[in-house]
Amino acid sequence: METPPVFFYNPNAYKLGIIEAQTIVCECCGKTRPFRYTGNLYCEADPDDLCPWCIADGTAAAKYDGSFVADFEGINPNPNEASVQLSAASTAQVSSRTPGYASWQDDVWLGHCGEACIFLGYVGSQELAPIWNEVQPDAVASGWGEENIRDHMHKDGNMTGYLFRCQHCGQHRLHVDAN
Ligand SMILES: [Zn+2]
Ligand SMILES: [Zn+2]
Repeated sequence: METPPVFFYNPNAYKLGIIEAQTIVCECCGKTRPFRYTGNLYCEADPDDLCPWCIADGTAAAKYDGSFVADFEGINPNPNEASVQLSAASTAQVSSRTPGYASWQDDVWLGHCGEACIFLGYVGSQELAPIWNEVQPDAVASGWGEENIRDHMHKDGNMTGYLFRCQHCGQHRLHVDAN
């Protein structure tokens, strides 16, 4: 079997079920593939069956004129968040060649040190405890309540944390939303 592509900005995409083992005929390349992308491609056509190869090489985003992420921090800034400038190269790589992640609301991709961050996965209070000092400012800025996030959030619950890490300095960043 052909080894599926790995994604720099979403390295756990397979483990997290964002790309799952399922035989499909990819709507973009027309090939029978052993993996299916379960997330969104924000575009008019909204194709159901996309393979990771068409994500990695940019053909799906180009063919459907779509983006795999709804919002970037700082480009469509949440009024609660400080605005950050992200390099166009890094946001292009995320929006056109990286699988998105599953979120309650539209997914937001965070940045640090001038570039998009690496998405690590879904987290709750337990996972955040060892790095709480790093993500506390993001928890406060999220508007979902610092205490709720610190003490009562479960990664499979109705409020979910989305953990990122800066590709340069290693700083963790947190996005939170709820259903
Ligand atoms: Zn394909
Ligand atoms: Zn950084």
